[in-house]
Amino acid sequence: AEPKPSTLLDIYDRSIDNVLRPKYLTEFVGQPQLKERLSIVIGAAKLRGDQVGHILFAGPPGLGKTSLASIVANEIGVNFRVTSGPAITRAGDLASLLSDLSDFDVLFIDEIHRLPRTVEELLYSAMEDFKVDVTLGKGPTSRTLRLDIAHFTLIGATTRTGMLSGPLRDRFGFVHTMEYYDPTELSQVVMRSAQILEMEISEDAAYEIALRSRGTPRLANRLLKLVRDYADVSRGGVLDQTTAKEGLDVFGVDDLGLDRVDREILKSLCVTFGGRPAGLSALASSVGEERQTIEDVHEPYLVKLGMVIRTPRGRVATNRAFDHLGIRPVEEQSQ
Ligand code: ATP
Repeated sequence: AEPKPSTLLDIYDRSIDNVLRPKYLTEFVGQPQLKERLSIVIGAAKLRGDQVGHILFAGPPGLGKTSLASIVANEIGVNFRVTSGPAITRAGDLASLLSDLSDFDVLFIDEIHRLPRTVEELLYSAMEDFKVDVTLGKGPTSRTLRLDIAHFTLIGATTRTGMLSGPLRDRFGFVHTMEYYDPTELSQVVMRSAQILEMEISEDAAYEIALRSRGTPRLANRLLKLVRDYADVSRGGVLDQTTAKEGLDVFGVDDLGLDRVDREILKSLCVTFGGRPAGLSALASSVGEERQTIEDVHEPYLVKLGMVIRTPRGRVATNRAFDHLGIRPVEEQSQ
């Protein structure tokens, strides 16, 4: 059976992310413009003895949003608290989290677009005035208390800024959409990780891994670990370009780094839909994935590669997609 890299990578130990997570801006590879802007924002807050303004990071998973948030906390030398939209179900949960913070602390909320509406509303006054309203008791005798909370920094992460309600989005002073990394940047990520993991790897091997990492640092790190396993078991620990290529082939990572779901999407568009436009829902059910996963995780990369285009009538596979799958577009076949 065909190996299923996406599944394999999903179950891969998440602890590696923490070991390899950059702690300071100087360790964070690539994204020079973003780093410059962040260092200005952080420097200004330090100068004034103020909290850093609220920040929103958008973009596909694994591009370094969590890392950047923890870097902001490290650079100022404050606590870093992490939670996520789906984890906070009641306004009271958020109120107690907020009242636990100290001045300048960084609170990171991953998947902030998934906060329930009542929780989100509590966040408005917390972000703007550093106050929260808590309701004591129920029914006619209930009272609302307005409590002061610490002057904290909220850093939110989301896949697309468009998923946030307008009022929430407007309360962030700094909004940045993360882009996929280019192979040169990704090979720097790989070389850096190899050094931390005390591995020897040639530059061309690192580049080979970078080429197949879907523009995503997290994936680059995971592929590096897989390739090291392969090198240790089959090549006496030598990690050169040939070993990297062989290892990545063994694990079913194709030469563009597409995973199983990416390939299913291409197959579906090229074969099932025969190159005709497909609506997102139809595509999702044909592939057996959630609409949102397709839209936020898979489609952006396939669009970036020029394999899929979004038209008003739906998603369409391009000739590049047909080429990659090694099949010919329908018009040519019928001639
Ligand atoms: P998610 O949205 O899924 O939480 P994320 O965008 O927050 O993902 P991180 O968890 O910050 O991504 O990054 C994943 C891993 O990739 C980190 O542990 C880190 O090792 C590595 N990484 C990400 N960006 C960089 C970078 N610019 N330089 C070096 N390593 C990076």
